[in-house]
Amino acid sequence: MAQDKSFNAFEMAQAQFDKIADKLKLDQGTRDLLRIPLREYHVSIPVHMDDGSVKVFRGFRCQHNDARGPAKGGIRFHPHETIDTVRALSMWMTWKTAVADLPLGGGKGGVICDPHHLSNREQEQICRGWIRQIFKNIGPLTDVPAPDVMTRGQHMLWMLDEYEAITGARYPGLITGKPVGMGGSLGRAEATGYGLIYTVREALKFLGREAKDTIASVQGFGNVSQYAIELYDQLGGKVICVSSWDQNDQTSYAFRKASGIDLKVLRSITDRFGGIDKAKAKDHGYEILPGSAWLEQDVDILMPCALENQISAKNVEKISGRVAIVAEGANGPTTPEADNYLEKKGIYNIPDFLANAGGVTCSYFEQVQCNTNFYWPKDEVLQKLDQKMTQAFWAVNDLAQNSKVYMRDAAYIIAIQRVAQACKERGWV
Ligand code: NAD
Repeated sequence: MAQDKSFNAFEMAQAQFDKIADKLKLDQGTRDLLRIPLREYHVSIPVHMDDGSVKVFRGFRCQHNDARGPAKGGIRFHPHETIDTVRALSMWMTWKTAVADLPLGGGKGGVICDPHHLSNREQEQICRGWIRQIFKNIGPLTDVPAPDVMTRGQHMLWMLDEYEAITGARYPGLITGKPVGMGGSLGRAEATGYGLIYTVREALKFLGREAKDTIASVQGFGNVSQYAIELYDQLGGKVICVSSWDQNDQTSYAFRKASGIDLKVLRSITDRFGGIDKAKAKDHGYEILPGSAWLEQDVDILMPCALENQISAKNVEKISGRVAIVAEGANGPTTPEADNYLEKKGIYNIPDFLANAGGVTCSYFEQVQCNTNFYWPKDEVLQKLDQKMTQAFWAVNDLAQNSKVYMRDAAYIIAIQRVAQACKERGWV
């Protein structure tokens, strides 16, 4: 996928942290501890490929902080994965679990690979190989992985199976995002997208608006985006534009329909990586526009749900004056420069680690269910999820209003204070 080589997610995560550390007048020891991951692992994974050759893949796991509980965070398969992206994402996981008030820390993993060009057998070997290299350093009580970009329940199950084969017992709490019936939680597929919309719903309440009077444009058409659109539709909102990555053309396109996109139709012409078939979309009456067009739509709500570094100094000024809310489904979609602009324009931001905390919250529910070996019905999962997300949203919103700080800063203040406090109480700093 198109990558901006000058962008470094870890530097951005550190800049965001430094800004709040200054505001909170955090002592030097706590700053030094929280600016970098506590632990990180770099591994080589040799795989016997289908063509008989052996290919070595590089993998990572970062445990940024576990003062509040076991590290928690996804594992991505991506051709442009870097250790700095994994570091940044592990740090954002620490803030995410803290702002959602879950008894967990932050971790993240990744393997540099492109599943588009790997058979299922090869992907299974990468999953098993990653576990063989890292099993001593993860576990239900230390660090719990989950799916992320281009990994799904099947990958988690291969990893779990390898871990259980090595350790000789059943540990369903090792990993979350497992398929339902194999230790997974109902509602996990919906959790991040629905969680995003729970926060949008509350933000609209705060702004005195109704979902049915709003339209939205969404970047990405994967797990987060599809379920966000599903619930936003149910609340009466209308999405007029989505975008996705085209693997053949190696570029992104936006798909626009002024009368509102049809989620069912688009889903039926989308591959498992969230890539929309543009010829079929055209047949269904969609305008096919350059990928950047999703950001330039005259809508009330923008939802970046694809990748980091998508709203930056380069394009932020193209955001329409009508936009009232930017709700970040993706991790790190908005750079600090773009943040300054959004803040100046009074655009209401629902920051990533609050807005997309639904996924990890449901993962936490999955762990709880695995630990008690008793599984809840979907309604119960979603109702608990709504409660957690709504609570987290109002805590951040209230702080932002009462202290007159930008929403992202308010979320950071709550999260960093909680983690710093846990480190202090443990006597680490
Ligand atoms: P996914 O792989 O299911 O979907 C990603 C979507 O983005 C696909 O439709 C893809 O075509 C599209 N995309 C990729 N590059 C693009 C580009 N340059 N322009 C436009 N579209 C592009 O991934 P996902 O699980 O939906 O995750 C999306 C984002 O949300 C990521 O940043 C991820 O870290 C974050 N997130 C996901 C979860 C979760 O539970 N899935 C939880 C928290 C955060």
